[in-house]
Amino acid sequence: MYKNGHRGAALVLMAPLTATFGIVGLGMSALAVAVCRLPDLDHDYSWLAHRGPTHTIWFVSAVAGLVSVGSYAGLSMLPVTLPAFPLALLLGATVLLGLLSHLFADALTVGRDTHAIRPFHPLFPHPFRLGLVRADSRLANSLLLAGGVLFQGLAFAISIGGITGAVA
Ligand SMILES: [Zn+2]
Repeated sequence: MYKNGHRGAALVLMAPLTATFGIVGLGMSALAVAVCRLPDLDHDYSWLAHRGPTHTIWFVSAVAGLVSVGSYAGLSMLPVTLPAFPLALLLGATVLLGLLSHLFADALTVGRDTHAIRPFHPLFPHPFRLGLVRADSRLANSLLLAGGVLFQGLAFAISIGGITGAVA
């Protein structure tokens, strides 16, 4: 998938969190969108196979783990008392979801041969692909982004409705 498709997929995946946590969920969604294209850094390095090591569960989990550990260390050093552990876990989980959305979005594509996602490689070499659309389909990428924005909007409306419902 391209830029907009990945952003859209992250927005769709994070929508239930926006519906549940309102503005906090929106912030988490923004973070997920910010990191969701990280696996495609393999475009920038010729020695990295595209849709190779950076498109695996291992890479995604390692990045999320590093984010958790790093933010825990950072938050613990702040001069104010913050619930560093749950916050660090929340950040790591958000990054994890953002990166997983990337794998899901790429799995939607035709992705033949070397372009198939193998999320558990080298443990299980099986490709994971639904083959619904071409990665360069403008329509599919635009639809994903539009769907993501729509889902987030609905989710936020639900969260506000939930709050006002609770107050009334
Ligand atoms: Zn990718």
